[in-house]
Order: sequence, then C-alpha cells, then structure tokens
Amino acid sequence: MIVAKFGGSSLADSTQFVKVKDVVNSDTRRRYIIPSAPGKRNSKDHKITDLLYMCYQLASHGLNFDEVYAIIEERYKDICNELNLSLQIDKTLNEIKDKIKNGASRDYSASRGEYLNAIILSNYLGFEFIDAAELIVFDKKGNFDSETTEKKVQLRLSEVSYGVIPGFYGAKENGEIVTFSRGGSDITGSIITSGVDGELYENWTDVSGFLMADPRIVKNPKPIEIITYKELRELSYMGAPVLHEEAIFPVKKAGIPINIKNTNFPEDPGTMIVNDHTPISSGNITGISGKKDFTVISIEKTLLNSETGILRKLISVFETNDISIEHVPTGIDSISVVVSNSELNSKMNKVIEEIRIYCNPDSISCYPNMALIAVVGRGMIKAKGVSAKVFSALGNSGVNVRMITQGSSELNIIIGIENDDFDKAMTAIYEVFEND
Ligand code: ADP
Ligand code: MG
Repeated sequence: MIVAKFGGSSLADSTQFVKVKDVVNSDTRRRYIIPSAPGKRNSKDHKITDLLYMCYQLASHGLNFDEVYAIIEERYKDICNELNLSLQIDKTLNEIKDKIKNGASRDYSASRGEYLNAIILSNYLGFEFIDAAELIVFDKKGNFDSETTEKKVQLRLSEVSYGVIPGFYGAKENGEIVTFSRGGSDITGSIITSGVDGELYENWTDVSGFLMADPRIVKNPKPIEIITYKELRELSYMGAPVLHEEAIFPVKKAGIPINIKNTNFPEDPGTMIVNDHTPISSGNITGISGKKDFTVISIEKTLLNSETGILRKLISVFETNDISIEHVPTGIDSISVVVSNSELNSKMNKVIEEIRIYCNPDSISCYPNMALIAVVGRGMIKAKGVSAKVFSALGNSGVNVRMITQGSSELNIIIGIENDDFDKAMTAIYEVFEND
C-alpha cells in the first residue's frame, strides 16, 4: 500500500482538489492520504496556516479577528461549493472560530487548516476521516512519542481501508493539540507510512521532484532521479525546503522509499529517495543548496595544529555562550568557526574577547554576512574533479571564495561566499554540472 501526502500548493483550491482526486484514484494502492492546509493560489495570496496564526495572535491580544477569519471561511466554502459537496462545513468553521475567540492555544489554532482540509478531502474522495489527534501522540512535555504513535497507527488504521488523516499535528493524552514545526505534514506522512508498513511514501508537491538547485534562484534546474536519505538531509539542512528535515527518519528506519511527485504533472517520474545507491559518476554531483547570513570567525596561530586542546578551548567559548556551531573548518595554522547570524546576534564582542583570552591567537578575523553553499553527491569527495569545477565556475563568474570545507560526511563540500554573491554563485555552480 501507498501513503500519499499532498502539500499546500497541491490543495490550494478546488482545481487542485480535482487533480488530487485523479492522482489518488489512479492507483488503488493509495490508501492513506495526508493533506496539508491550503497554500497560496498565487504569489500575492496567503497560506491558510499563516492566516490562522494571525487570528490566534489577534485573539490573544483581545482584538477582533473577524476579517481575517472571513478570508479563511471563504476559501474553504469556495472549495466545497465548487466541488458540489453536500458537506456542511459552516458549522465546523463556526466552532473553530468560537474556540479561537475563547482562548484556544496557538497549536490548536494553527492545526485547524489541516483539520478542515482533511474533512473536505475525505468527503470528496469518499474516504474515512481519521483525526490525527487520535493517532499522533505527544508526551506531557510536548515531545513526539514514536512508540505509542506506532501502536495507535497500527491498531486504528488496520480497520480503515481508505482514509484521510490531517498532517502537521497530533495530541497529548489529555487531548491538547500539539503541532510539529512548519512543513510538518511531511513528518505525519512518514510516520503513517512506517506505522502501516507501506511499500512507498509519496510526497506530492508543485515541482517535479527534488531539483538539483533551488528553482527560485536557478532557472529550470533538473530533477534528481535518485537520491539517498543522507544526501537529501544535507541538501534539506542547507536550505532546500522540499521535504521537512525530520520527515525521513520514520520511513528510513523502516527501509521504505520516498517518491517526490508533482501534482500538476503526475506523469513525471519525480525523485526517488532511497537508503543506498551506486555512487554518482566521477566529476558529477547530486545537487546544491545554500543559506545566507552566517558569520565566520577565524583564528590564526603559528603551529596551531600541534597545540593540543586549542580546538576544544575554541569550541567551549561558543558552548558557554549557548551558540550552536555550523562548521569548523581547520587549516595548518588556522581554525574557523561558522555560526549563523541569528545564533550569534549580540554576543559577538563577548565571544571575540573570550577567544582572545582562552586561545591566545596571533590574530582573529571575522567575516559577517557570509552565505554557505553545500555541493552534495555520494562518493563525490573521493572522486577527483568536483572541487576544481566548482572553483573554476566561481572564479569565472567573479565570486570570491572565502572558505571551503568538507562537510561532516563524505558527501559534501561547503563553500563560504559573500551574501551578495549568493544567487550568482548558485547559478554558476549549477551550470557547470547541469549537463553531466
Ligand atoms: P509543499 O507545499 O508541497 O509542502 P514546499 O513549498 O514545502 O511544498 O516545497 C516545495 C518548494 O520548494 C518548491 O515549490 C520550490 O520552490 C522549493 N525548492 C527549493 N529548493 C528546491 C529544490 N532543490 N528542489 C525542489 N524544490 C525546491
Ligand atoms: Mg512542505
């Protein structure tokens, strides 16, 4: 059996619902469907989840949120009317509004986007609706409880032939709703797939798979046919939002592949995400992704590599200041620490001062406003040619490379450049690899 998750853009309006129904009905193995909340219909539109957060914010300040809620109501009602559903969604919409007005929690408010969409979709498909609050369990502290969840999913879904389960949230034992972080419907889909021991987890979105680069930056990047979980994690962590970072764990543990597919072009093969695969061909890569707004702090000291404990001292400065470190590229006479600007915020001067005292370096340099680009490919580090190609591409387009380091695994190199060069660098790197 197949579990299929549909993202917000795949369910933004009634036209998209029609496409989703076609997809679901084209293979009877698709038995459990996980919808997100309706996303944007165009670039000026709002995601329903954002509107719900807004309602919650207004309500929690004792302000009137009627106008914002009216937009939400209209969107759901339009979907129901345009699909000619006999479903009475008004009553549910009113109940939710009352609850938000009377102090419902942030998580409860935010989760209603998926809840409503799942009710509508189940009605439209003729599938059973199962509330995620019955299946996805969080403990008292609000942490996801995978063991209890697995048992509940197995037990409850064994009696459901065809079902729709809202993504993004679950509940504590006392019924209190808890959401995952944004994009968390991907996690719900993965949990359900592993719970029912599915053969495949399909993740339907608005692009034809995981692309070699971010399509919002690079023009028409090619889809990646096959990618390993590890490569995908590197790319996701470094900024590609296609699949939530934590979504791979449940299916990976169960050895179930993921297929990223395009709701608008269901014939496209999309991307298969698998546990293991033959290395990519020499001089080639799987994909690139990147993030802006990092600071690199480098210390230089003669014979630094023979001084024991210096790395530990340096890292402990960041630890005691509660700053998490992204990378630690080291050279013979230098060590750098890469942190995101949001982690560092106002602690910069204090950190530099403490490094001076504890590490006693010859010099300290600081590069704010850096971007990091991850070039990822299994077996890539061992094969020659990748870094040479990356550097000549960057050189030819006039991008200064401030830092280069091999990532934590054998499958990526991380390049540090100026924020302002980000788009240019991504495009230049993509173009040297696109035709391989
Ligand atoms: P959904 O609403 O279906 O969950 P998301 O918005 O979370 O979809 O993720 C899909 C979007 O991710 C695409 O529309 C695209 O703009 C963006 N994206 C960024 N990097 C990549 C990439 N490398 N491959 C594909 N899409 C990417
Ligand atoms: Mg998403």
